[in-house]
Amino acid sequence: MKRDIKALSASQFDLLIIGAGIHGVAAAWAAARRGLSVALIEKEDFGGATSANSLKVIHGGLRYLQHLNIRRMRESISARARFLRMAPELVVPRSFLMPTFGTGTRSKLVMKIAMGMNDIISADRNNGVRADRRLPNCYVISRGELFKNLPQLDRPEFTGAAVWHDGFAENTDRLNLAFVLTAANAGAVVANYVRAEKLVVENRIATGVEAVDALSGAQITIRARQIINAAGPWFHTVKPELQRTWVKAYNLIVRKKWFGEFGLALESASDFHDPDAVVQRGKRNLFFVPWRDGTMIGTQYRFFPDDPDKRGITADEIAEFVREVNLMYPALDLKNEDVTLVHIGIMPALPGAAANAQPDKHSDIIDHEKAGGPRGLISIKGVKYTTGLSVGEDAAMLASEKLGRTWRELADELTGAEMPKTTKEKIVADEIVHAVRDEMACKLADVILRRTALGSFEFPGDAVLKSCADIMGRELGWDGKKIDAEIEDTRRIYRMHGLFS
Ligand SMILES: Cc1cc2nc3c(=O)[nH]c(=O)nc-3n(C[C@H](O)[C@H](O)[C@H](O)COP(=O)(O)OP(=O)(O)OC[C@H]3O[C@@H](n4cnc5c(N)ncnc54)[C@H](O)[C@@H]3O)c2cc1C
Repeated sequence: MKRDIKALSASQFDLLIIGAGIHGVAAAWAAARRGLSVALIEKEDFGGATSANSLKVIHGGLRYLQHLNIRRMRESISARARFLRMAPELVVPRSFLMPTFGTGTRSKLVMKIAMGMNDIISADRNNGVRADRRLPNCYVISRGELFKNLPQLDRPEFTGAAVWHDGFAENTDRLNLAFVLTAANAGAVVANYVRAEKLVVENRIATGVEAVDALSGAQITIRARQIINAAGPWFHTVKPELQRTWVKAYNLIVRKKWFGEFGLALESASDFHDPDAVVQRGKRNLFFVPWRDGTMIGTQYRFFPDDPDKRGITADEIAEFVREVNLMYPALDLKNEDVTLVHIGIMPALPGAAANAQPDKHSDIIDHEKAGGPRGLISIKGVKYTTGLSVGEDAAMLASEKLGRTWRELADELTGAEMPKTTKEKIVADEIVHAVRDEMACKLADVILRRTALGSFEFPGDAVLKSCADIMGRELGWDGKKIDAEIEDTRRIYRMHGLFS
């Protein structure tokens, strides 16, 4: 996969996609494999924004049972099965525990019924899935078994726990990239560090974008018959009328692992009203998800009125989150210094977010031809990584229909959906060279945070940054000054994610 900026302006594409988060890459993957000529541009690196910062649960929508929304559950179950089938090296089964208590919605009896319903609704969940990636039936365990798994959680009110299973994306960055690689193999022209600046509209028809190559500063015009705006929290920069409210969503990454390979869902201390729920539980769940050498804890939400480029985290926000965790589960004795990083993304908010900071629950595909124009533009508002696959695909299908093409059913396939080999202890130079030559790694941060797993869990240290920058520098002709600038820029990204030293 080569970065060829000239190819972006050399011809008119059937479809231009702006933004390479999960929604944009799924759209590019779906369209290019069906023979559409596709251009995919990304203002930073592929999958480096919201999609890099999720809790990585590829979920089957168990919580939608509470909303009695079986259609949404089925959509999530189908997406989860597709990820488990297509990318078994990257998406693995993970079991979650949720303590039961009382006689209401979280009682053992109600949870047992819910788990049984979940098994029935997802009876086909393992069709075509590799044997070691299949998800077993859900079950309920006794109080004794719960405390055997979580000895320090000995709360008198707990009567046992419900256990369910979901997919877990060990590496969302490689997963995102696999869609890009597959689209490029099918003929798509893809480029990171190309920013769409202005939509070109002629006679109320969107015909392309004026864009900038952020690496060279060159201005380019990209022409297309259909355009998908998959710019995530920046989607209003493509179509200003889409301006809306956002929440900042963040997870703590901590250096402690408490519950083996089990994830844990615990009710937070604060009250919560879910406007979609038929059955209110009154509290929201925080998840503790084992990941690499530690745990991800999330998700926390804050109203975010600012520019998504200004996202970041303060020491006070981290301390407040740590306090909330300790209130819920004092025996964990979490310390601020256990936090290695904070994963942050900006998400669409529910109306009234200023008051209660809740993320929107519904993805949407906006056909601007039917919504005030211009013709030729489709925007995606996406709210889940899991369903990003089908929502991106549906947007591509809509664009294809508008082009008068027949949408063929195709078996799912992904290229390069593999875990990287490089570790902090052993930097595999060939892998970094391959990332530069064939996976469009342009900046040091691309290699540290996304092509390898070196830096998404914690800051890997200056020595690792320097070794990788030297290898990249030899490929890309960087001098000492450029190497220093790349290291400083990578540190800037870590500061944005809570590394203050
Ligand atoms: C903390 C957190 C936890 C989450 N946990 C889960 C979870 O466990 N499971 C789950 O399913 N979902 C989860 N989500 C939700 C999920 O991550 C998001 O819904 C999804 O990743 C959004 O994808 P996207 O493609 O819409 O946006 P993005 O990933 O933000 O992609 C949009 C891309 O467009 C690019 N772009 C913007 N403007 C331009 C422009 N002008 N030109 C070119 N490119 C542009 C951006 O740089 C960006 O890369 C979580 C989200 C957060 C933040």
